[in-house]
Amino acid sequence: MGMVLMEMKYDIPEIRHGYANQTLYVDLSKKTIEVKPVDEKMKETFTGGKGFDLWLMWNGLPKDRVVKWDDPENEICIATGPLGGVTTYPGAGKSIVTAISPLTGQPIDSNVGGYFGPHLKFSGFDAMEIQGCSAEEVYIFIDGDEGLVQILNAGDLPDNAYDITRILTDRHTAKGGRDISVVSAGPGADHAWMGCLNFSWWDNKREEPRYKQAGRGGTGTVLRNKRVKALVAKKERLTLEMNGPADLDMLKAVAREHSKEILELDSQQNRMRVVGTAHLPGIMDEFDLLPTRNFRAGSDPEAKNLHAEVWEETYTNSGKGWDGCWRPCAINCSHCIEGFVPKTGPFAGKKVIVDGPEYETIAGCGSNLGIFVPHWVAELNFYCDAYGIDTISFGTTMGFVMELFSEGYIDEKATGGHNLEWGAAKAALAVLHEIASGEGFGGEHFGKGVQYLKGYFASSGADVRVMEDIGMVHKGLEYSLYVTKESLAQQGGYGLTLKGPQHDEAWLIFLDMVHNYMPTFDDKAEALHYFPMWRTWFGLNGLCKLPWNDVVPPDNSETDEPAKVPRHVAFYARLFSAMTGRQVDGDDLVHMSEKVYNFQRIFNIRQGKGLRVNDSNPPYRSIGPVTAWEYESRQERYDSQLQEKCGIDCSNMTSEEKLAKLKEYRMEQYMCLTDAVYKRRGWTRNGVPTMEKVNSLGLDWIPDLVTIVKEHQADEPPSHTLPESDEGWK
Ligand code: SF4
Repeated sequence: MGMVLMEMKYDIPEIRHGYANQTLYVDLSKKTIEVKPVDEKMKETFTGGKGFDLWLMWNGLPKDRVVKWDDPENEICIATGPLGGVTTYPGAGKSIVTAISPLTGQPIDSNVGGYFGPHLKFSGFDAMEIQGCSAEEVYIFIDGDEGLVQILNAGDLPDNAYDITRILTDRHTAKGGRDISVVSAGPGADHAWMGCLNFSWWDNKREEPRYKQAGRGGTGTVLRNKRVKALVAKKERLTLEMNGPADLDMLKAVAREHSKEILELDSQQNRMRVVGTAHLPGIMDEFDLLPTRNFRAGSDPEAKNLHAEVWEETYTNSGKGWDGCWRPCAINCSHCIEGFVPKTGPFAGKKVIVDGPEYETIAGCGSNLGIFVPHWVAELNFYCDAYGIDTISFGTTMGFVMELFSEGYIDEKATGGHNLEWGAAKAALAVLHEIASGEGFGGEHFGKGVQYLKGYFASSGADVRVMEDIGMVHKGLEYSLYVTKESLAQQGGYGLTLKGPQHDEAWLIFLDMVHNYMPTFDDKAEALHYFPMWRTWFGLNGLCKLPWNDVVPPDNSETDEPAKVPRHVAFYARLFSAMTGRQVDGDDLVHMSEKVYNFQRIFNIRQGKGLRVNDSNPPYRSIGPVTAWEYESRQERYDSQLQEKCGIDCSNMTSEEKLAKLKEYRMEQYMCLTDAVYKRRGWTRNGVPTMEKVNSLGLDWIPDLVTIVKEHQADEPPSHTLPESDEGWK
């Protein structure tokens, strides 16, 4: 047991209508612990979850300067939401983490499973706010049964997330592990900007802690920079009544309806209970949307080795029992591989559990690297988690490096001696092990991501223009794993996000490309308004998004707006009303999100970002073909677009000439889409919320926010005119 460096005893409040009505603040530099009140204005404006996190950061960070990720003043905040911890509702166990990101320099948010958020709330805190840097390695223990918060010396703890979690679970449990959730990063996060956080949950069936990752944007890096090895939250018993719902019967009824529907329909739809998100590689491969070899192509003959049937065989006990990162979740999609034996690194030859792999990891650490052997994907998954590294950023960064290497733009001198050809799984693992040790190319360079590596490779002579086009990074964040080249709407779905190209704001590829639901700019803009707002709502409430649209009602396609899954929107409105006592409908839920969404945009501006210039210039590979090979692989589509949309007779043009014309056209389309989306969101042409929008959302009570908005109202970017037909390309 580590020495107690500071502790605070507190009275555990009664949770009322989903809120503890207080937050926990820990200053690691001063070794102080405080409780802060939550008032009605905070709840009304920010709802909870990500909204609370951002509001705490807004007030906690210095306001007179841009805050860097490694400033002691940077904060890491974790919250669930008013619906977090509903013990009968599918997906109601999520936590949302925020910090100023090492990769993007602005607030990042990550929505993650595991029990930490609910344990934190039932311990008496709607959110936790950590600031400062400790002089020594520490961990923070919240005992929600005793009303005790401690900062303890962590000098005796190992580095990797798996061992840390096991030791702390054994050390603090009174219930064989079921009462504990641990948050930890790992040694990789010490040497990388893409460090993730592992949130644990107790697997009753296997009697083991299991994990979900808050992957994006380097929150693990921030935690390790503060010299925190782990956060532990203990709560012996979670009950439905503990959340203090306003209408318990209504809450039970809507939870029953939603769970019943999932149990009846999942086996006829995505089979999440059997394969989870691993049902996606096959579908993406079929529709030419699975990133292969650094997003160059969307399918590959070898990709069948990564399809659902393979993972169904590989996951142990899949579909046969409880496998949910939130105990009552009817979807139960958190599959794993037990008895997996790594072939490299410190766990070589030992049996371990791999949590996943899930879709993004299969695509990122598999097809995107030209690796089509499931074992290597699982081994990369295991070590990324153990070391606290985001599999998405790792995979997208490695894809970039492998393309540069395979195409001869860089050589082994630039990669520290690693032969990083396509498919070089052992070399990719060697780089990953270096990130953990802090040595070599991996430890010194790779872990800082694509944006950094573009500069690093440029210094050794690599072609800057090529790297700008193929480096799949925007706003500093590596792309998540969908090919967007042929969907203008999804280009906006990635490019016009708050935090960078992560699909959790908008996933419009199928609606756009397959169903053709949004042929005009206005249609696309409407979708790029509605879906980011709607999806934000899950992060305000401590919910998982998968139960919303991964299993849908049988008559959903006959509704007016099937993409919104109207019956489920109504479920969520009833759930929120039952918990909080505020009678709301679907529009009210979107309005809640719009407040926080605009607030986060203005927070980005405060950090010197969040303007049109930051939304512009995504890597061209996310918009169209970069190389002649890419063009020729879809020549018919591209030629007809040049002819029909641009009026160009390209019959005598070389591929390079056609590439240049297509690029001009597609970039212009992206800029026009940007105009249309800003207009729909109520923003100026420079991407700043108008004062009218701020007033309508009721954010005008925050004086320093109003000052920032007013300062930026007049900035106007160069004009882009919508085409007369107002049609986006298809
Ligand atoms: S749907 Fe899957 S990821 Fe979401 S809460 Fe349920 S088990 Fe966890």
